[in-house]
Amino acid sequence: MSFQGNSTRTKEERRLSSIDRVAATLALDEPVSRVRGVSPARARALDALGIATVRDLVNHYPRRYVDWSDVRTVASARIGESCTISGTVHEIKLKRPRPKLVLVEIALVDQTGLLMVTAFRQPWLMDTVEAGAHVAVAGKVEFNYGFKRMTNPYLEVLGDAPAEGVIIPVHPSCEKITPAWMRRLIGNALDATRGVLDPLPLDLRAKYRLMSRGCALSCIHFPQAMDEAREARRRLAYEELLMLEIFLMQQDAERSRGRTPVEHTTDGARLRALAASLPFDLTDEQARARDEILDLMRAPRVMNHMLLGDVGTGKTVVAAHALAAASDTGGQAFLMAPTEVLARQHSESLAPLFDAAGVTCELLTGSTSAADREAIVERAAAGVIDVLIGTHALLEDDVTVPNLTLAVIDEQQRFGVEQRRRLLAKGHAPDALYLTATPIPRTLALSIFGSLTLSYIKHRPHDNVRRTTHVVSKGDRGRAYDAASAALARGEQVYVVCPLIGKSAEERDAQARAASSGAARDRAFDEEEEQFHPAVAIEGEDDFADDDVAAAAKEAAFLQAKVFCDYEVALLHGSMPASEKRDVMERFRAGEIGVLVATTVIEVGVDVPNATVMIIEDADRFGLSQLHQLRGRVGRGEKEAQVYLVSASKQDSALARLSAMEKTDDGYELAAFDLSLRREGDILGNCQSGASALKLVNVVRDGRIIEAAHADARAIMEVDPLLEEPDHVALGREVRLLFKGKDNACAS
Ligand code: ADP
Ligand code: MG
Repeated sequence: MSFQGNSTRTKEERRLSSIDRVAATLALDEPVSRVRGVSPARARALDALGIATVRDLVNHYPRRYVDWSDVRTVASARIGESCTISGTVHEIKLKRPRPKLVLVEIALVDQTGLLMVTAFRQPWLMDTVEAGAHVAVAGKVEFNYGFKRMTNPYLEVLGDAPAEGVIIPVHPSCEKITPAWMRRLIGNALDATRGVLDPLPLDLRAKYRLMSRGCALSCIHFPQAMDEAREARRRLAYEELLMLEIFLMQQDAERSRGRTPVEHTTDGARLRALAASLPFDLTDEQARARDEILDLMRAPRVMNHMLLGDVGTGKTVVAAHALAAASDTGGQAFLMAPTEVLARQHSESLAPLFDAAGVTCELLTGSTSAADREAIVERAAAGVIDVLIGTHALLEDDVTVPNLTLAVIDEQQRFGVEQRRRLLAKGHAPDALYLTATPIPRTLALSIFGSLTLSYIKHRPHDNVRRTTHVVSKGDRGRAYDAASAALARGEQVYVVCPLIGKSAEERDAQARAASSGAARDRAFDEEEEQFHPAVAIEGEDDFADDDVAAAAKEAAFLQAKVFCDYEVALLHGSMPASEKRDVMERFRAGEIGVLVATTVIEVGVDVPNATVMIIEDADRFGLSQLHQLRGRVGRGEKEAQVYLVSASKQDSALARLSAMEKTDDGYELAAFDLSLRREGDILGNCQSGASALKLVNVVRDGRIIEAAHADARAIMEVDPLLEEPDHVALGREVRLLFKGKDNACAS
């Protein structure tokens, strides 16, 4: 195995003729079977990993590196840190704690001690590793039940131990292509593409001191020092982002090309009348968002703006200003919401404002009668309706207005790209305003929406949150019960939230299998492993602890009998009949029920100001954003509120995550923190846009690279939108190749 460095390579690169360089660049897009060593069988295995071209192979980056300059002994390995340990296999055992769970346990010894290694779902280790073998493992050191341990480390059987100072890349691999083979194939692919042209303009490379593409590719795969790998990653992550941003901006430019954008009037009579008729003052954040939106509407450019704000932050009234400006300009506007209830609510809450402003407005939904619909469609086409509010019903072909200048889409994430596009296509170059309650941190929004502009509203009006959050262990739950009892004694009420209702481990297993996306599956596996690890740690014990997830039903019975005997405890969960749910909610609202034990159904539309304590069981099973939403149910009133997050987890990471809840009340900060803990591949979730081209970027940690690439892409697009200048031609070609056939599915 050779771990080539880049120093010779760069010299060689310099010797390459430009013809060689072009050939190397073209080679990137050849089928992977052209690479030396890729047999038809290996090509099939690579294909299963999503690798079809040479480019895919050289972009198949290492998941981690094993740094042989940092080999420790068992005794000197520090708990909680990652390192490499080599030793002799004392014993290797296959265990099947449950029918569907296979794990291999290895006892590894060196001169200083014993390391227990657990590998989940890798039964083939039984064939490749035998007692007495000399192996190296790299991973995080844990301590449990008296032993240092590693779970799912990278494991390599050593013939002769490699020389010190060598860094081995560990690429995602599979049973048919071992990590060692993957290294060999990637090395061959790098040979074939040595000297690839660099699509990054020189000025940008100089500005950030980025290495050349060829150099970055060899350094990220086969670094000589970890610094080299980091520098290579920085360069390649920047490149990924710049290309994505340019692609997104090009798409946008495409959409508005040849169209004359509307320059809205933003100081018209209707807008002023609407502002004057508001029954409250806008909060500072609302006023800023309003100004940002009106500025964009006034500008001779197509607005593509997203207004982000949690539920209840008052996005509707901000949008109302935009709608009034459209009407002042003599255009018509749509306001589309995902459900009938929401559309109706908008129409009712906006009616008094629009009346006062002289803006005519109608509601069109699926349940509008045929006769009414006909009349509305006719009036809309005649241009007498200024604002047409509705659901998907607005998308029907015969719903038209003469001059659509603004489309507002509420809860934009609930509509498909095609639907959003269809609404906008009803005008020539209408401005678009999207509203969303999803906490999307700025850097994530930039990297998936590109040219979208953003306004944030982070606080609700009258947001005097009087609420404290406490993380407690299961054993300390008494503190939460004491606080709850005290609240009940004051005549206040309590929520107890449980993650699942009495689902057995089998059921959850089935769910995990059913989860179709790879990311969801990975997550489920992770959870499973976390859940089983403590049990695995008990030597020789094969029966696993029962499902210890708090079952809401049992919990309710327990709380009624043992803890809150003097108050009524009731249960609310998703699979109860609707009438029963309504009944329970009514009685809780009326104060008859003291303690409401609920699954996450209370997330939707519960507002009981008298409820002041919330206890969330197994809080580590919820995402931070979800916990934040949940706790939003208490502490909005006059009374002080307390939230208790009960966690059985002993893992530092789980506790660190939860303690973020104690520290901040900013939903976006929490969302960013949550994202930073997830695996890179997971972060963009199921957003099927061009963002899937991001392989190296971590949308939270790489905030600065994202901001820089965003600004640079914008600057390039301003001076050379078609990427025709000599410095930009290669860039344009790469963007076309990378995003061939892709369309940005997130923004409209
Ligand atoms: P969301 O952002 O979830 O769409 P809404 O627009 O429905 O929020 O607003 C929530 C509630 O807050 C509405 O009843 C609205 O009238 C009210 N509201 C909005 N802005 C203010 C304000 N500045 N002061 C007081 N109440 C406000
Ligand atoms: Mg809303």
